[in-house]
Amino acid sequence: MRILIVGGGIAGFAMARALELKGFAPELVERRLDESPGGMGFYLPGNAGRALARLGLLDSVREAAALIKTQRIMDQRGRLLTVTDTEDFWRDCGSCLSLPRDALHTILRGALERTNTRFGVSITGITPATDACEVVFSDHTTATYDLVIGADGIDSTVRRMIFPAIQPSYVGNVCWRFITQNTTGIEGWTAMLGKGRTLLAIPVSDEQVYVYADMAVAEDESERVRHASLQSLFGDFAGPLVPLLADTRQDTHFGSIQQVVMPHWYRGRAVLIGDAAHASSPSMAEGAGMAIEDAWVMADAIATHQDLDAALQAYSTKRQPRVDWVQKQCVARDKMRTLPVPARNLILKLLGDKLYKRSYTPLLASV
Ligand SMILES: Cc1cc2nc3c(=O)[nH]c(=O)nc-3n(C[C@H](O)[C@H](O)[C@H](O)COP(=O)(O)OP(=O)(O)OC[C@H]3O[C@@H](n4cnc5c(N)ncnc54)[C@H](O)[C@@H]3O)c2cc1C
Repeated sequence: MRILIVGGGIAGFAMARALELKGFAPELVERRLDESPGGMGFYLPGNAGRALARLGLLDSVREAAALIKTQRIMDQRGRLLTVTDTEDFWRDCGSCLSLPRDALHTILRGALERTNTRFGVSITGITPATDACEVVFSDHTTATYDLVIGADGIDSTVRRMIFPAIQPSYVGNVCWRFITQNTTGIEGWTAMLGKGRTLLAIPVSDEQVYVYADMAVAEDESERVRHASLQSLFGDFAGPLVPLLADTRQDTHFGSIQQVVMPHWYRGRAVLIGDAAHASSPSMAEGAGMAIEDAWVMADAIATHQDLDAALQAYSTKRQPRVDWVQKQCVARDKMRTLPVPARNLILKLLGDKLYKRSYTPLLASV
């Protein structure tokens, strides 16, 4: 079977690995040149670890990652609101891990043996038909595939070509991300919440910590805050994460947070996975977990159904309720952060642990 994967991110490489494990040899195109995406961290809740285990990659990821045993939320003065024992919660599923994004990419990509990967190549045309897809590439070559899998992220070209009406929408926050030295000895997933702002730090190794800061702003104001100093934007915060802002680096990533919500993920023989199908705000940190689960379920469906139409239907039927749950939880969590500060802090103090468990319990179930 000729399968093309468009996009060499977490979803695309996980898809290629899952297909290889099922005996297929897909092709993959990635529009970036052969270089790492650089400079950010990834927090992986236990279900992502379980999905990596399915791909036979959990041990390698564990070696490159920090183990995260707790999740703590504080107010902007550093007073504890709630703490969850994540190690205990995910015990029967998988460990929570955190690592630099580059490291995760390198492991996924390095595991591929039979995937023909071309970097610096995009697609410029796709004609999805009943039983095949004609694809035109940016290097002017063309080819026909039994299946095209769009794993090309939130601004997916495949999605634009097969579902032109679907657009990402802004969720109301912009964010900054960087990795720095863990000078303040942060342990576990640690967040501080202020009015319309969040500071979060997660160790990604013994020495380094991944810092994420976000702020609620109107969409047309994002350029205004892009170059502002984080120390001034978070000047009224005090507590364990604040010293980390002193080291804001040149390679800090800035972006606006968007989501993609759509009712169908395939048309003819072209299908979407990962952020291309269902990007969410990072409130649940489930982007990689959902992408790797998608890949596993899709490969399994292709291997078990004789008929590709039935496989695509099985993939959608299995994945949509779970993804829908995650997307709704992200929206609910983002909304809670906009409550008046005293009410939000009281809710977190009284119910923080319960709310965490309520959000993640459905994800303990295997896919
Ligand atoms: C601020 C922020 C923080 C986050 N934190 C976390 C976290 O801690 N944990 C977590 O699990 N998730 C997190 N996420 C979500 C996570 O980053 C995504 O869900 C995940 O990267 C999705 O992977 P993907 O492969 O679908 O898309 P991407 O990672 O976007 O990969 C898509 C790839 O496709 C390529 N591409 C695009 N267009 C084309 C084309 N036309 N032709 C060929 N190639 C193309 C791109 O170059 C890219 O390499 C976060 C997201 C944001 C915005």
